[in-house]
Amino acid sequence: MARYHDPVCRLCRREGTKLFLKGTRCYTKKCAVERRPSPPGQHGVRRRKMSDFGTHLREKQKFRRVYSVMERQFKEYFALARSRPGVTGENLLRLLELRLDNVVYRMGFANSRPMARQLVNHGHFAVNGVPTNIPSYQLRPGDRIEVREGSRSLDPFKNARTQMGAAPRPEWLTVDPERLSGTVAALPRRDQMPLELNEQLVVEYYSR
Ligand code: SF4
Repeated sequence: MARYHDPVCRLCRREGTKLFLKGTRCYTKKCAVERRPSPPGQHGVRRRKMSDFGTHLREKQKFRRVYSVMERQFKEYFALARSRPGVTGENLLRLLELRLDNVVYRMGFANSRPMARQLVNHGHFAVNGVPTNIPSYQLRPGDRIEVREGSRSLDPFKNARTQMGAAPRPEWLTVDPERLSGTVAALPRRDQMPLELNEQLVVEYYSR
């Protein structure tokens, strides 16, 4: 699976907003968006009026970058969201939120989605007792995610154990810091997915 390998802070500067791709650094003054809020590149500081198409495109790119999804897979998510009953934009968000790497991040096992993706890739998690190393794995209500026995003594999980209990978690997830596990309690509703993203612009982008 293709991946973006260049500096991720450029992506935040390109979108003009924090996408929180670097964990704790994103909350400090070292954040590149705070130090250099202009888009990257030689002509980044030029003022440009955004076209209607540009506004829709940038919102779609923001979604892709927040969840680290490549274009082709994102289109597949959109097609799936459109084919399901209900509101397409909400369906799309739900599909992205129920990715295994996102749930690992939301449960507090990792400080950022890229870190969660790496932990999943390295085979540290099991879903319903079955080792799973696919970041895009779609979870369903009732699924139980746990750190595998052999990985529990690793530093990231020792830190996670102390942080998991303290940080607020979405209502649709339950966590057990002692057992380093968690459960998808329900499908997330739109009001339980607090993202500063406008899914309607993405729907309009693909409906042109
Ligand atoms: Fe984005 Fe985090 Fe880098 Fe700031 S520190 S630019 S929020 S990835």
